[in-house]
Amino acid sequence: MTVRHVELLALMGLGSLYGWYADSSLWIFSGTLGGAVLWLGLDDSRLSKVRAWLAAEDWGNEPVLPHVWGALVDKFRKIQKNLAGKARDSQARLDEFLSAIQASPNGVMLLDSQGRIEWSNQTAAEQLGIDPQRDLMQHVTNLIRDPQFSSYLSAAEFQHEVAIPGPLSTPSKPVVVAIRIHPYGKKRRLMLSRDVTAVQQAEAMRRDFVANVSHEIRTPLTVLSGFVETLQTLELNAQERSQYLALMATQADRMQTLVSDLLMLSKLEGSPVPSRQASVQASEWLRSCLQDAQNLSKMMSEAGHLFSVDTSMDFDLAGNETELTSALSNLLNNAVRYTPPGGSISAGLRLLESGDAEVWVSDSGPGIAPEHMPRLTERFYRVDRSRSRDTGGTGLGLAIVKHVAQRHGGYIRIESRLGEGSTFTLHFPSDRIAALSID
Ligand code: ADP
Repeated sequence: MTVRHVELLALMGLGSLYGWYADSSLWIFSGTLGGAVLWLGLDDSRLSKVRAWLAAEDWGNEPVLPHVWGALVDKFRKIQKNLAGKARDSQARLDEFLSAIQASPNGVMLLDSQGRIEWSNQTAAEQLGIDPQRDLMQHVTNLIRDPQFSSYLSAAEFQHEVAIPGPLSTPSKPVVVAIRIHPYGKKRRLMLSRDVTAVQQAEAMRRDFVANVSHEIRTPLTVLSGFVETLQTLELNAQERSQYLALMATQADRMQTLVSDLLMLSKLEGSPVPSRQASVQASEWLRSCLQDAQNLSKMMSEAGHLFSVDTSMDFDLAGNETELTSALSNLLNNAVRYTPPGGSISAGLRLLESGDAEVWVSDSGPGIAPEHMPRLTERFYRVDRSRSRDTGGTGLGLAIVKHVAQRHGGYIRIESRLGEGSTFTLHFPSDRIAALSID
């Protein structure tokens, strides 16, 4: 028996006591009934208070009620507090999860069964040109209007991804976004996007590179095999034989130079940045490379070139001697190869106030037109293809120079005017330079 029942019996008992006091069996009955009705009213008003409190959801202001009603309110209050705590935890976890998806470098978008945007992270919004708040519940095909995307979505064959131009894509600066849809739940879709511009560019560069290398190797190979065939089929006298063999040796040399330039490039790309433990003395480095260039100049023509060198400033340069020598030799050899015999070639060292240092190579050669300048350090880019080939060029020299400079924290600067010669400067940062005093 609960307190509530005791209360009912007590009120009924009081009613019948009142009837007994009035000395009438009718009054006893009425008193008992009245007690019961009074209890019912009391109980109902407590129930109403509980209902009003629940309807108002005013959890902090619970009604103060006796016995079972009070216990009920108390219990409910505890359950509600518990649930609110759990909801807070879930919300915090959801917020954390969403901020993790926001931080993703890939775009993430959730589509409902109608293809409307339910949620999108900032990356997807930027990649696909939508507003993550304003465009919520918009149909995705109204916002991404690329026909390839529309047919990808309607075909519903999501085993592969589709690549479309990004909203900021221009012909001179293309941006490509790859989209892949993953169905989940009841016809819902998770849409992932990523910027594949760099990947596609790298892939195009790789294809071009393979095509270029094949082309560069095929040319001397064709010539070589032609000579081999001639030697095999024709009766040649000793003079003709040695003439052919000399031409074959030139082609073999060309292939060898190409292969060694390719190996140099791949070594530069695959090895760690040169340490600062070893260093070269700039004046010695420059003089030894200049000596090789002078020898090349003599080999190429009788008139040769007029050389001058300025080592009035000197410094130690921390880095890899083989790489640095290859870079500087490339610049000096280019000066020799592109400057007509009798022209002048000068080189020198410069220490800047910032502590940085430079080595420069100037020539009085043909110069380079401005439109070619930005592409000169690309692999296999040549302004004058036949001049490059005739002088044994591979089209990889300046690419190697640029790599070496960058690996030493520096860069290459090219200044040139058509018909007035060129200056190529290698710039190195102060943290690799130790100035030397000249006595
Ligand atoms: P290559 O083996 O053809 O010389 P490089 O990468 O060394 O290749 O140079 C790229 C192109 O830059 C050359 O083909 C040439 O057209 C141009 N170039 C390089 N150095 C000079 C220079 N000193 N004077 C004029 N043009 C140059």
